[in-house]
Amino acid sequence: MEKLIEKIEKGAMPAHDEIVQLLALQGENALLLHRAARRVKRGILGDKVFLRGLIEFSNVCRCDCLYCGIRKSNAKVARYTLSDAEILEEARFAIDHGYGAVVLQSGERDDDDFVKKVAKIVSGIKKISADVGITLSCGEETFDTYRLWRDAGAERYLLRIETANETLFQQIHDAKSIYERRRQALDDLRKANFTVGSGVMIGIPGQTLDDLAADLEFFRDQDLDMIGMGPFLAHGDTPLGKRFPDTEEIKQKRLLLALNMIAVTRLMLRDVNIAAATSLQAISPVDGRQRGILAGANVIMPNLGEAAQKRNYRLYDNKPGIDENAEKAWRELENSLREIGENIAYRESGTPLHYLKRQ
Ligand code: SAH
Repeated sequence: MEKLIEKIEKGAMPAHDEIVQLLALQGENALLLHRAARRVKRGILGDKVFLRGLIEFSNVCRCDCLYCGIRKSNAKVARYTLSDAEILEEARFAIDHGYGAVVLQSGERDDDDFVKKVAKIVSGIKKISADVGITLSCGEETFDTYRLWRDAGAERYLLRIETANETLFQQIHDAKSIYERRRQALDDLRKANFTVGSGVMIGIPGQTLDDLAADLEFFRDQDLDMIGMGPFLAHGDTPLGKRFPDTEEIKQKRLLLALNMIAVTRLMLRDVNIAAATSLQAISPVDGRQRGILAGANVIMPNLGEAAQKRNYRLYDNKPGIDENAEKAWRELENSLREIGENIAYRESGTPLHYLKRQ
């Protein structure tokens, strides 16, 4: 195993069955894998971590994904949409605190009001700071909408494929979500000149190591610039969460698997941005994101919202940090990164090196 890790650390592309072997690692062997990935991260991207302030600006959604807490059919959710002024205020907080970029995330809507609102917010944020990076994470839209939002000033877009296994994709979505359309949307984002990010959920009921290895090959073949992925977590008010409730043992297994996925992604894709997702922190509140960085991630997305907003934007159970104080959480994060020898890259927008090299 050490030989295999060493070979891949030096830059050899692993074969499918080798990826599967790496993803299955546990204990000391898993740590060897994570350390190799961290060395590659530090060698290529240095000892810094980028911060993106996450603004969950609306939980109104037209989709009915079987795993997601804010799915349309979940009548228990109090729906909200922040006003433009509230969103700009959260963005201003991020900019004032030296965050190099913000992520605007929401449920999915395709009506005119929504499309125009997003364009308006993006240009509003760029008026506060022309240098701050803006990432959108608002789901599947038409090419024209992507174009409009790109022209308004957003540079990056995150749209997870969720799983590259088409059969599994259809099983966890309602009939209106179509795998081919998701792939088309990723192509459209590229055509609209976005820096494109995607990712998957790890540990979806029914998902195999073979599927996850294929996900990593999908990332590579799509030539993605950013990867955001985290463990699947049950939400008790969703069909998937009801059928497959989490146990502590399952969650710990998924956490390790997610860290292995981050590490192998770093070893295979080298110069992309990889986020240590919030769902890592949901399983391990004290050090989940820190462990993501130790396994090769280089981006953290602290939530900028107020408690009430965070509570209503609950994709899975036990969302972390709902009641935390933003300033205090930010100090703690800074310390936890310093402890492992990483520095927050304040005021750097953090365009993925992979994207810069392609230009
Ligand atoms: N509507 C937008 C963004 C919001 S959802 C979109 O679809 O892109 C953001 C991500 O949260 C999803 O892509 C999904 O991977 C993740 N997510 C949703 N429900 C989850 C769950 N139960 N466990 C883990 N991740 C989940």
